[in-house]
Amino acid sequence: MQKPPLIFALLLSTLTATATADTLIHAGQLIDTLRGKALQQHTIRINDGEITGISAGFEAPAEGDEVIDLSQHTVMPGLMDMHVHLDHEMNPKAYSERYQLNAADYAYRSVAYAEKTLLAGFTTVRNLGDNYQVTISLRNAINQGLVAGPRVYTAGKSIATTGGHADPTNGHNHATMGQPGPKEGVVNGIADARESVRQRYKDGSDLIKITATGGVLSVAKNGQNPQFFEDEIEAIVQTAKDYGMTVAVHAHGVEGMQRAIRAGVNSIEHGTYMDKETMKLMKKHDTWFVPTISAGKFVAEKAAIEGYFPPVVVPKAAAIGPLIQGTFGRAYKNGVNIAFGTDAGVFPHGENAQEFVYMVEAGMPPMEAIQSATVSAARLLGIEQQTGAISAGMWADIVAVKGDPLADISRLQQMDFVMKNGVIYKRDGAVVVQ
Ligand SMILES: [Zn+2]
Repeated sequence: MQKPPLIFALLLSTLTATATADTLIHAGQLIDTLRGKALQQHTIRINDGEITGISAGFEAPAEGDEVIDLSQHTVMPGLMDMHVHLDHEMNPKAYSERYQLNAADYAYRSVAYAEKTLLAGFTTVRNLGDNYQVTISLRNAINQGLVAGPRVYTAGKSIATTGGHADPTNGHNHATMGQPGPKEGVVNGIADARESVRQRYKDGSDLIKITATGGVLSVAKNGQNPQFFEDEIEAIVQTAKDYGMTVAVHAHGVEGMQRAIRAGVNSIEHGTYMDKETMKLMKKHDTWFVPTISAGKFVAEKAAIEGYFPPVVVPKAAAIGPLIQGTFGRAYKNGVNIAFGTDAGVFPHGENAQEFVYMVEAGMPPMEAIQSATVSAARLLGIEQQTGAISAGMWADIVAVKGDPLADISRLQQMDFVMKNGVIYKRDGAVVVQ
């Protein structure tokens, strides 16, 4: 038989290689997030971006297979942060920057912050509020393989009421204050609420974020008052359901939290003043709690530095910031469903794993803290069939650290290996250039 021309033979061998060659990860310790167990010496088989099998022991490779030796590591599913803001990062100039930066400035920054987040081991994030919808474009660029970053589920611009926590013109002078409306995420009444959700669907948002109470960093006096009527939240939840979107709710005060929970929202973010009655209500309505202890600690620390925040922000940061870790501990003990979230962007991107340390300090066992950032987060996002665990048929989102994070949770802050969709972004602690 005649030999095929060289080019054809090469093509054929490449096709055969990609179709059959597997990547085998030899995992010294493997975290089974579904059962909350640590398995020793397992092999994970990966093909074409997907996990195709798990087996006990270190399987020998067939010809053409690649072996990744993580036998001295703890291997787990890619971590998931349910509360980030990839388009900005807090700094002492942040309050004047918003009058100077253009959409493109935020966009370029988001590329750098997304890469940092991925390299810290976070392969999926939920972006809860941005400027100029840049995280929608960021999500698309990451999905197209143009830039390196986590898989992004974004709310686009948050929705607030006039003067509320996410009203983008709070603190402006009258000349630049304008009159933002539903398009800009400022609503008053049911019709506005519906319009703003539909606008976000049109913009390309994956979910909805609302600010149901005052907040720490807005230029406004109250950090916890209710800022939506219940019928406005109901209108948002019902409209979001029509478009297959979930609703995440920023809330510090009890009244705003309870209105949101009763209206059927999916998650409460921060939850600072959450009391027992509110915890009961959350369990009744299956509402997730996303704590963001890291943000609380960071703003409390910065409030002590004169001039870091505008004067109206300082007392809010000093009062609310230090309380979140205690709230988290009580919510955990009361059996509230907890999904990992940090509010990265309020503090530097890439430091997301510090949250694990705070969670364990507050009484959550390391295994459960890891589960909150994997299997629980995947459930909150509705992608538990695709990620959050290492099992056949799931996306090959796999990360690893040296040693045992179950014995020392701070090991998660030294991410050594990062794979997303079967592509390696970090290996032996070093960035892999794509
Ligand atoms: Zn936030």
